[in-house]
Amino acid sequence: MNVIIFGPPGAGKGTQSQNIVKKFKLFQISTGDLLRSEIKNRTEIGKEIEDIISNGDFATDDIVNQIIKNVISDPKKKNKLIFDGYPRSLSQAKNLDLLLNKTNQKIDFIFFLNVDKNVIIKRIEKRKILEKRSDDDLNTILKRYDAYMDTTRPVLDFYSKNPNYYELDGGEEISIISSKIEQILSV
Ligand code: AMP
Repeated sequence: MNVIIFGPPGAGKGTQSQNIVKKFKLFQISTGDLLRSEIKNRTEIGKEIEDIISNGDFATDDIVNQIIKNVISDPKKKNKLIFDGYPRSLSQAKNLDLLLNKTNQKIDFIFFLNVDKNVIIKRIEKRKILEKRSDDDLNTILKRYDAYMDTTRPVLDFYSKNPNYYELDGGEEISIISSKIEQILSV
């Protein structure tokens, strides 16, 4: 099965994805992690996106779609994908559909972790101390939240008609959300 974990920055997409990976033997595809690793490895892409990401802006669809294409075409990961932080725009959602179609795959489950802005701000300020991400300071968080509302949230219209679309309260305890997701995926 292929799964999308959708939600604003700080919703807990990464945490929930890691739990699903363990329980259901899927592969987590976090475009944020993949982009950060390009930066860390000083690749051409990494140099191009470093400032963009630090500023809280989106990497271009071209770059992200290319990274995703490599992952989707990996036969080892076929029908075992969990997308975390992708798609983030309508054009990325359409691209994902196209790539999955080409490889005879589809999205089987979509989970939307819905969280209030004030909870997000508190969580990311905590994460800033733990992970020291350059895009976790308050101004950048607010910018990333706006980018989410403007460009990413509308993507839900694309998925909410799917019979396996689930909206969850992302403000709840991590373990409660995990068990809800597990229950749905185990059916
Ligand atoms: P994340 O780890 O998902 O919070 O992503 C961190 C940052 O990486 C985002 O604020 C964007 O700058 C960039 N990024 C991650 N995923 C995408 C994507 N699908 N499209 C464009 N930019 C992305």
